[in-house]
Amino acid sequence: MVRGEYLDGRSTRIRQVQVMLEGDQLSWRGDGVQGAALLVQVNVSARMTGVPFTLRLPHGAQLQIDYDDMPADWFRGRNRIESLVDWLERKRWAALASVLAIGLGLIGWLEYGMPWMADRVAARMPQRMDVAMGQQTLVLMRGRMLLPSQVPAERQAHLQALFDRFSRNVAGLPAVHLAIYDSPSIGANAFALPDGTVVFTDAILKALPDDRSFLAVAAHELGHLAHHHQMREVMRHVGSTLMISLAFGDVTSLSGVSAALPTFLLNNHYSRAFEADADDFAFKTLAQQSVDPIAFADAMHALEQAHPGEAGGGEVRYMSNHPLTEERIEKAQAASHQFQLGRH
Ligand SMILES: [Zn+2]
Repeated sequence: MVRGEYLDGRSTRIRQVQVMLEGDQLSWRGDGVQGAALLVQVNVSARMTGVPFTLRLPHGAQLQIDYDDMPADWFRGRNRIESLVDWLERKRWAALASVLAIGLGLIGWLEYGMPWMADRVAARMPQRMDVAMGQQTLVLMRGRMLLPSQVPAERQAHLQALFDRFSRNVAGLPAVHLAIYDSPSIGANAFALPDGTVVFTDAILKALPDDRSFLAVAAHELGHLAHHHQMREVMRHVGSTLMISLAFGDVTSLSGVSAALPTFLLNNHYSRAFEADADDFAFKTLAQQSVDPIAFADAMHALEQAHPGEAGGGEVRYMSNHPLTEERIEKAQAASHQFQLGRH
């Protein structure tokens, strides 16, 4: 028998009672009240050192028992959180398994969920958003990283015509156009912006041996545009919170995306899978327009010569990554072989 305080749940009056536990029945008596309840109907608060226990009884009444007065064997494991903790302590493997499951879930989300969502959001982006982002990036880069080209006007016009004729015959492209800039900081490089601008630097034009290898690099960049690689890659980087708000039409978050784009262009590069996609796109479209895909291998060789061991930004770093470049050249050679077979 222990001392307790009884509150009926209707008045604020506190009655001093004696509390007893017999079998599965709890009873109380004193100060004008008495009653009993089955143990299963009593809800007990968690054990916290020094804090009185609150026993919620049926019909809204409650009993309070001082922490020190509560017999240790009463209500053992009756509180839900306590029993969960108790259960976890007894079954360490279960606790470990849950931690592991949460970890795997997180990895799964980052590995598959995020890219999946990034692609969905990128696909839902209206075209004018791509255009705005591409132009904003150009404005940011022009005058700093992109300077007026030194390539003679005649040669520029020749390349423009070549580019236009080639891209007109490629299916599934947004509106695209060629832009040539002098860029000592970017070096021999080419990249595509989401508004359809394909930038070639003076240095890459100097490094590429002929028109076919120029078209090969252009075709690769058109592949990035056709597959919306840039927006998809940026979406993978901006994080899920931003993507969720964009998915629900909160356009104010867009400034975050446009801010991420130039940074992405300079510091990141496309995933290996996207590069391989763009390469395949190039092999296919070159062959369709009767250009031997070996031109792509020629371009890669020439760019390797132009960047001996240099670790630049964007595509350059990728191109000077030797084992990967070898792999891409081999694929171009295989595509060329197929092309030759098709011609005979
Ligand atoms: Zn690329």
